[in-house]
Amino acid sequence: MEQTFVMIKPDGVQRGLVGEIIGRFEKKGFYLKGLKMVNVERSFAEKHYADLSAKPFFAGLVEYIISGPVVAMVWEGKSVVLTGRKIIGATNPADSAPGTIRGDLAIEIGRNVIHGSDSIEGARKEIALWFPEGIVEWQNSLHPWIYE
Ligand code: UDP
Ligand code: MG
Repeated sequence: MEQTFVMIKPDGVQRGLVGEIIGRFEKKGFYLKGLKMVNVERSFAEKHYADLSAKPFFAGLVEYIISGPVVAMVWEGKSVVLTGRKIIGATNPADSAPGTIRGDLAIEIGRNVIHGSDSIEGARKEIALWFPEGIVEWQNSLHPWIYE
């Protein structure tokens, strides 16, 4: 089944939003397949956001991501990449709909509490980057109650 990479950014950790964010993905019916807290090194943050290296906000973005521990996760489920992005909301919290994580829990684009992969290929790359050790194999016993 499809997997995506989700990261709770340093502001989300500091603000005590880890449980709230995990709860939203869990309650939707997605399966948690990887989870760890990490202090990200500058070079690793630059690699994760390499596609944005030419952007004017890149330096500030890297500073933000290395400013404290983050929570890295792999979530699995049907269309989890696209649906995960919908749960997260628009990049700028000012444009994120109420009911989304950023719409409900954030104000500014540079403090938008969460990252989610934007494509299946991006998710594959990000999961490989963040979880080189692999992830735990387990099957949710509620599967037939979530999927028809
Ligand atoms: N960002 C920013 N200023 C901008 C655009 C993006 O600070 O003008 C930050 C923001 O935290 C965002 C991250 O850079 O989440 C990555 O940008 P991207 O366009 O990939 O947005 P996302 O995929 O996170 O919605
Ligand atoms: Mg992105």
